[in-house]
Amino acid sequence: MSIAIVRQNHCIGLNKTMIKEINLNGTIVSYSMQYKNVKNINLRVKPDGTIYISANKGVPQKVIEEFMISKADFILNTLEKCKNRYSKPPKQFFSEKEICSIVLKLCEKIYPYFEKLGVEYPMIKFRRMTSCWGSCRPSKGVLTFNIALMYVPIECIEYVVAHEFTHFLQPNHSDRFYEELAKVMPDWKSRRQMLKETLIR
Ligand SMILES: [Zn+2]
Repeated sequence: MSIAIVRQNHCIGLNKTMIKEINLNGTIVSYSMQYKNVKNINLRVKPDGTIYISANKGVPQKVIEEFMISKADFILNTLEKCKNRYSKPPKQFFSEKEICSIVLKLCEKIYPYFEKLGVEYPMIKFRRMTSCWGSCRPSKGVLTFNIALMYVPIECIEYVVAHEFTHFLQPNHSDRFYEELAKVMPDWKSRRQMLKETLIR
């Protein structure tokens, strides 16, 4: 039987997000806590090991802690998996040389669709980036792709290419943007989800 003891929580957060700590089966775990307009309590563990709790304002802290304790095994197991992901070398699908020609080929493959909509063939650039897989400057006609796409499965690279090209039609991430994206890539959502699980190195 596992016993969880709640220790005195402290809060160092700003605004509505609070960073708190809880003892789960002897392991001190910190989590982000936010009061939101949700029904009860939501728990989410991100791939990088960050734990998010959102709860309705009416839910007492004690109930939140009891909830987390009831999910202790799940939380600790998920954190262990996240740790393994970070310590393992990333899976490399392509070499640095290959990734450029793969992306260029995908751009050429998708372009006829956008050509019909009046988009001029862009200048394609490659860079090492830490915060995004690709970017589009519609006014300059430039698409930039992250060299780190070599760590990404081909389905997700296709998604990044389609996503950046769609910005020539819609420069933002509005509903219209995703409507346009769905026309050229109906299964963009599952590809985006897969990409989200890939960490930028
Ligand atoms: Zn975008």
